[in-house]
Amino acid sequence: MSTTHAPELSSAAAAFDIRRTDAPRDDVERAALLESPAFGTVFTDHMARITWTADGGWQDRRVEKHGPLLLDPAAAVLHYGQEIFEGLKAYRHADASVWTFRAHANAARFAASARRLALPELPAEDFLGSIEALVATDAAWVPDGDETSLYLRPFMYASESFLGVRPARAVEYLVIASPVGPYFASGVHPVAIWVAEDFHRAGPGGTGAAKCGGNYAASLLPQQEAYEKGCEQVCFLDAATNTQLEELGGMNVFLVGASGTVTTPALSGTILEGVTRSSVIALLRAAGREVVERSIPLAELRTGLQDGSVAEVFACGTAAVVTPIGRLAGEDFDLTVGDGATGTVTAAVRRELTDIQYGRVPDPHGWMHRLV
Ligand SMILES: *Cc1c(COP(=O)(O)O)cnc(C)c1O
Repeated sequence: MSTTHAPELSSAAAAFDIRRTDAPRDDVERAALLESPAFGTVFTDHMARITWTADGGWQDRRVEKHGPLLLDPAAAVLHYGQEIFEGLKAYRHADASVWTFRAHANAARFAASARRLALPELPAEDFLGSIEALVATDAAWVPDGDETSLYLRPFMYASESFLGVRPARAVEYLVIASPVGPYFASGVHPVAIWVAEDFHRAGPGGTGAAKCGGNYAASLLPQQEAYEKGCEQVCFLDAATNTQLEELGGMNVFLVGASGTVTTPALSGTILEGVTRSSVIALLRAAGREVVERSIPLAELRTGLQDGSVAEVFACGTAAVVTPIGRLAGEDFDLTVGDGATGTVTAAVRRELTDIQYGRVPDPHGWMHRLV
């Protein structure tokens, strides 16, 4: 066990009134649920919550029983989709302590998403305090198996009952938590990607750089098309020219050249700036590798896969960490990446990142923050 004591709750977390459920799941039930949860299906006993009104600001910070929300059918979110979210994880280390990874970056991105969706910006201390308060309350739900974690889902929506079209004057912020195992039940394996040439998830001046539900709504039909073509995920192209790689529905994309140089689409305003993306760039650069952020034409990738100048392709995001891509297909092409197996650079950066997250190696970048 750890020789250090669990940290005191910060003042930001102490601002939350802890209203424990009188019917928590018992140890036996929780152990059964933690056995092998499919992604996003099991939730902890509590959720964190803050209410906002235009007149009163952020108020009523609390942790309460996880349960259904009371929503008027006229609630603005149900009609105009004024909603944003985040995704991050709490990791249990070998000494039983619990840590988050770069949560400040999620807090900053949440505020930026709020600005774009004309929602109120949640102060970073409330974002971080809500996570700390919830994880401290539901600490027993942080699993300790290999590649397991507690997935945290902060979100905010327009709760005001009003059908007029303007930013809502009443908003709810919540954090729910879900214990998760490895994203792919069968372990990390290369996935097939369908390149959507008829649909886009975001356009110039749109909401592509914000983490909002609407972007995901726009990605579901092309995602369905990808499944029908025998692929697991879609890769979107830029809406302006339909020629440049952007990202997958919920993951950023990287190419590894045969020369060892890594490239990834530059942040153009239509791509979501992943925390994993920025961490992967930092890890690759710290290992002495050249990483270039620029526009990547689909035509260049196709040629590169054919002539071998592109050796590896991978996607990355919090949920699935680093996912190798073994095949890339579209209306008039179907290409294998390398020999179709996980590449060495992909495997190494995945390992380096998870070693830091699970505390198996020192954290030279100061990315980890202890919660429990
Ligand atoms: C959340 C998300 C990502 C990955 O971001 P991380 O911070 O790495 O989890 C990538 N693309 C989209 C569209 C996303 O919503």
